[in-house]
Amino acid sequence: MKELWGRKVLKKEIEHIEQAERQSQKLVTMQDVNEKTIQCLRCGQIHNKNTVQLANRHYFCPACIQLGRVDTSHEFYHLPEPNPVKRTVNFAWEGQLTEGQQAVSNDLLESVKKGESRMIWAVTGAGKTEMLFETIHYSLERGFRVGIASPRVDVCLELFPRIQAVFPEEPTILLHGKMEEQYRYNKLVVCTTHQLLRFFQAFDVLIIDEVDAFPFVDNELLQYGVGQAIKQTSSLVYLTATPTKELTKKTAQNKLKTSILPARYHRRVLPVPKLKWCSKWHEKIKKGNSPRTLVTKIRTLVTKNDVLIFCPSISLMEKLKEAVEKHFPEVPLACVHSQDPERLEKVLKMRNKEYRILLTSTILERGVTFDGVSVIVLGANHDVFATSALVQIAGRVDRRKEYTAGEVWFLHDGCTKAMKEAIKQIKKMNTLGIERGLIDEM
Ligand SMILES: [Zn+2]
Repeated sequence: MKELWGRKVLKKEIEHIEQAERQSQKLVTMQDVNEKTIQCLRCGQIHNKNTVQLANRHYFCPACIQLGRVDTSHEFYHLPEPNPVKRTVNFAWEGQLTEGQQAVSNDLLESVKKGESRMIWAVTGAGKTEMLFETIHYSLERGFRVGIASPRVDVCLELFPRIQAVFPEEPTILLHGKMEEQYRYNKLVVCTTHQLLRFFQAFDVLIIDEVDAFPFVDNELLQYGVGQAIKQTSSLVYLTATPTKELTKKTAQNKLKTSILPARYHRRVLPVPKLKWCSKWHEKIKKGNSPRTLVTKIRTLVTKNDVLIFCPSISLMEKLKEAVEKHFPEVPLACVHSQDPERLEKVLKMRNKEYRILLTSTILERGVTFDGVSVIVLGANHDVFATSALVQIAGRVDRRKEYTAGEVWFLHDGCTKAMKEAIKQIKKMNTLGIERGLIDEM
């Protein structure tokens, strides 16, 4: 009945149901908070009873229904995670950590040995996955169960083969909403944060990558899931390049240990965004024109690098694409957004230099690396560009070892707090990197 170890699932999710009926523990799915309200024990959401009552007088949870309906006529099936047993785990990583990465890796290992939580705040392009390997290896050898979760499925898809390559003999499973593979028990799990809702006191070490990314950030349901998925004594590890206010507050109050890696492995400073006034960009684009400031900027940048242009909305982006095409008829370009069926193809073409200019929504703000790009944020003063988004976008530039003179430009008609904050954060990291001797000044 290994499939129920550390799990909390409904009957219909179980493969060997007869055995499960005999052996597993049954847990209630929902519990009364008071006379009027009831809480779902999978996602933690509290509902007004009269809004979630079924015809058979039972109650259900609408909040986590995409994982299969939880209602009070059912129970969860669960078996406790067995105690860790020491073992030997083949570790096939042959890379070398930089001095900065090694320090963070050491901190993390110490935290896991003590069973405490830690945030790793590493700048974009710092190489954060490598810093996890030693800790994962140690944890697996101790017999711990290790989870690596991300709010974004593309991050999971990218992480999974890298983790497998480092632990080639370790059975590893990838869990996300669209997979069809049957669940099986493994000590090493890579999954989306939604999948954590199906675990219960399972993980000794749980690493949450991109903790500030949608949909995890400000999502009580997913955060409840994390709390449920870890063992009572465990280490929770947050990985981020742009921590939320809540996390930085915890760090400042000494409630969360934090390691900062302020420099990239290639020892150059992060490119600091430059501001350029671009009056009435919104109106101009709406009328089908490309602001002159933008055209001039593209013309200069495209002589050295490819150009990524971040736009605040899909409708504006499509209009802008036509306008830009008129000015650069000889330059291959495209636009891409989250609903675009050709999204992956277009990203690949940009990577292969088949496009020189790519207009994009915030979908490409994180998780992608292009060689030799400059970035323009058009309408950087728009609400969609929060501090974390702007820091991530600026972080698309100069990620590879070879220097490309990539630049970051915020085109705006009214500087926002988020823009100022993003620039301040980037500069602060650069200063810290220089102070710690992790950056070679040019
Ligand atoms: Zn629920």
